[in-house]
This record gives sequence, C-alpha cells and structure tokens, in this order.
Amino acid sequence: MAVNESSARLWHRLGLGPLWRERAMLSSPVLVKESRPPPTQLDWEGLERAVAACTACSLCQSRTQTVFGTGSHGAGWMFIGEAPGAEEDARGEPFVGQAGRLLDNMLAAVGLGRDRPGEQAVFIANVLKCRPPGNRNPDAAEVAACVPFLRRQIALLHPRLIVVLGRFAAQAMLASDASIASLRGRVHQVAVGTECYPVIVTYHPAYLLRNLADKSKVWDDLCLARKTYSRLTTDCATRPSDA
Ligand code: URA
Repeated sequence: MAVNESSARLWHRLGLGPLWRERAMLSSPVLVKESRPPPTQLDWEGLERAVAACTACSLCQSRTQTVFGTGSHGAGWMFIGEAPGAEEDARGEPFVGQAGRLLDNMLAAVGLGRDRPGEQAVFIANVLKCRPPGNRNPDAAEVAACVPFLRRQIALLHPRLIVVLGRFAAQAMLASDASIASLRGRVHQVAVGTECYPVIVTYHPAYLLRNLADKSKVWDDLCLARKTYSRLTTDCATRPSDA
C-alpha cells in the first residue's frame, strides 16, 4: 500500500467506510494471524472472553492484559478513547492514569461518572483493547482486527450518545482524516449494524493535559453532548408509540 495514501482511503479499504455498516471487512490484505468470525452474536460475557483471548494482531504478544471497557452495561452514554496506556495495561481498566483522572473530572463536571447510576452512568472503552508498545499510534491492521469488538460493544450497549475522545478515535469512528478542530461542535451520525448513533467529538484528555487553553472547547463539547442527550431523552420519552 502506498505510504502516502490518505487515512480516509485507508479506512475505506479496510471496510471502515463512512458508515460502519456490517460488510466484508477486509478487501485488502491485512496482517492478522488468525481470522475469527466477527463477534456479532456474542453477549457481554462472550465478548469479554473473546477480547481476553484475542490473538488477532501482534499486540497480544506485548500486552499484560486486554482492557475491555468499564462502566454500566445499561449506560446511555459511551465514551471512546484510543488505546490503553501503561497504567491501563497494568490494571485492565481504561483511563486510570493521569488522563483518566482528568476524564473523570470532565465527566463529573457534567454530572456523569463511571460508577454512577441511571442517566448519569457511562461506559468507557477504547478503539484498541491492547496497549501499543511505547504508546505508539495504533496501525491500520490493529484497528481492523479490533474494531469488530468495539462495534459489538456499541451494539450491545445501544448508547443514546457516543462521545469520541481525540483525533485517533474520531478518525476511526468517522472514517475521516479531518482534524478534531473541524469535527467538533456538531453531532455526527454513525451506523453500526442497523442502528444509527449520534456521535460528538472532543479533544483527548491527554492532549488537554498538554494544552490547557483548549479546556474551554472541551467544556463547550460536553455542554453540546449534554444538550443533545437531554433532547434525545425527551424525544424518546414523548414518542407516540410510548404514549
Ligand atoms: N488513553 C486512551 O485513549 N485510553 C486509555 O484507556 C488511556 C489513555
């Protein structure tokens, strides 16, 4: 594959095109050692077992453990990051390092939390379930191998709203090579299976730790997320079929 091929075309060739419809995933050669059927039939427990046992890419050789995700399986909110770092790899839970503490503060600022009940509950996951060594960027083959797990998490959780953290996760979710600056501030739609999910993009907490001046932009994004979630909740509550 040409080195200068744009990421958008790369995502497309990997079957991660603009909308994540189920389709033949790999039309171009991808370096996976093992091909398993996509986990579209698995329940939460089966999915967690499949993730823990996954050897589909070379990250299985360097990981301490997989990092499945955390939070309520009934959450209406889903937050998606990039990949586990060193602390997440050691503890088996996403966002437990310095960036994770900032994420928890961001969530608390809008009344959400990984251990909170009901409408305040969130589920947090990453695009990749294994740590890339040295925290390097994930490569396309690793994403292609791991994305079916994330898709199944989304389908099982059926979140009302997805918030995507950072450039890598945003580009993977939206099959775009656009910058965060151009993707934030609006509600995207992403299809998973037969469902469409609203997606809001914001900066990654690790980026924020280095760029404190952008905190106000994240606050704006979280306010947009809150407003969107509330509107969706109201719309659902007043659906004629519910009357
Ligand atoms: N960064 C991520 O994107 N995910 C984590 O779990 C931790 C840091």
